[in-house]
Amino acid sequence: MKIFSYNIKNFRQIEYMKLLPEEVKQEIEVVSKVLPFKANNYVVDYLIDWKNYETDPCYILTFPNKHMLREADYEKVKWAVEKGLPPHEVTKIANEIRLSLNPHPAQQQSNIPTLNGEPLPGVQHKYRDIALFFPTQGQTCHANCTFCFRWPQFVKDLDLQFSMKEIDQVCEYFRQHEHLHELLFTGGDPMIMSPRTISKYIETIFKADLKNLKTIRFGTKSLTWWPFVFLPQYNEEAQEMLDLFKRITDKGIHLSIMAHFNHYQEMSNSAVAEAIANIRATGAEIRTQSPLLNHINASAEVWATMWDQQVNMGMIPYYMFIERETGPYAYFQVPLAKAYEIYTDAIRVTSSLAKTVTAPSMSAAKGKAQVMGIIENPLNGEKYFQIQYIRHRDYQQTYKPFLMHYDDKATWIDQLKPVEMQIHHSDL
Ligand code: SF4
Repeated sequence: MKIFSYNIKNFRQIEYMKLLPEEVKQEIEVVSKVLPFKANNYVVDYLIDWKNYETDPCYILTFPNKHMLREADYEKVKWAVEKGLPPHEVTKIANEIRLSLNPHPAQQQSNIPTLNGEPLPGVQHKYRDIALFFPTQGQTCHANCTFCFRWPQFVKDLDLQFSMKEIDQVCEYFRQHEHLHELLFTGGDPMIMSPRTISKYIETIFKADLKNLKTIRFGTKSLTWWPFVFLPQYNEEAQEMLDLFKRITDKGIHLSIMAHFNHYQEMSNSAVAEAIANIRATGAEIRTQSPLLNHINASAEVWATMWDQQVNMGMIPYYMFIERETGPYAYFQVPLAKAYEIYTDAIRVTSSLAKTVTAPSMSAAKGKAQVMGIIENPLNGEKYFQIQYIRHRDYQQTYKPFLMHYDDKATWIDQLKPVEMQIHHSDL
């Protein structure tokens, strides 16, 4: 099976595009000037229900529509395209809009560490025990998700990418930080790299013999967007990839594939089940995560079905995230109160092994803030969110529940007002 990619230039060649009205194709063209668009033959031919494309989660996950930009921004780009402005002028307009879309949420740039006084531009180190590595060759994806919080990684014109190739420097950084135990290969999608390229990184890590490195993770959406990465009968490099996984686990390093699934429809093809079985046969575990997304998975039924299916297929539900405030988040965001309701309605009906998931969590500037509950004061009816940091820049601040004033419209922690605790003498 050969991958065939569609982009803004050739997407009209997709056979199913004939089913869509012209204005829908124009919207894809206009929005793609600002937000990256990419699809492939597997997503187009096997995942999308084209007869119901308007509500199909895999279509909305892949093809942009005009509501993903602010109305004024959409009209500005549409005007530039219709007017036939030269490409560099359209790019200038697009870049102004991109920079207004909060390209680096949660102060990610402050997570770039230094080694011997020099920054490591392809590393983020926010939490004590784990570092993120952005290998240069892995900063693209098999297809692009419309909601993607890493969208600036794919926009060359902006020069906002985190990336580097120098894994020996990453190893040295690990050596100098004994509390680091986990290395997460991320992107983009590191599984877009050939096994030979990943192997070079892994062999350098093996040679470095880092006593404190206990876990390697690969964050990937390949099980959804291109499961053939792990299917030797369709892809001649797949066995090499599986052998590489086995070499990692044989070294005694825990290997965790952080699989991104946004909807159970992405698990419907038997190729996914086969890929999961092949990965697990190498000794690797697969943990699953997704943001909660309006128009795609904002229902308890979707999450409960997805988590139960994941367990049945041999995966471990791990995180439900709140969509980050970046890119087209206004289209996808779900208020925290609604998110908590969806989570609790879903988790109540799942099998016990699906209850491993941590949810709903915001990857905020200080750390991962989890909405633990909504509490009502029986004396005056006032409501509060109970929140805790399950990860924090300062690990000693984790697992300390605190209250924030309830706001049924708030979609992020910084929109909530803290509760001032006042103790009156009469209370003592
Ligand atoms: S696979 Fe991940 S990094 Fe790639 S576009 Fe989708 S969400 Fe973004």
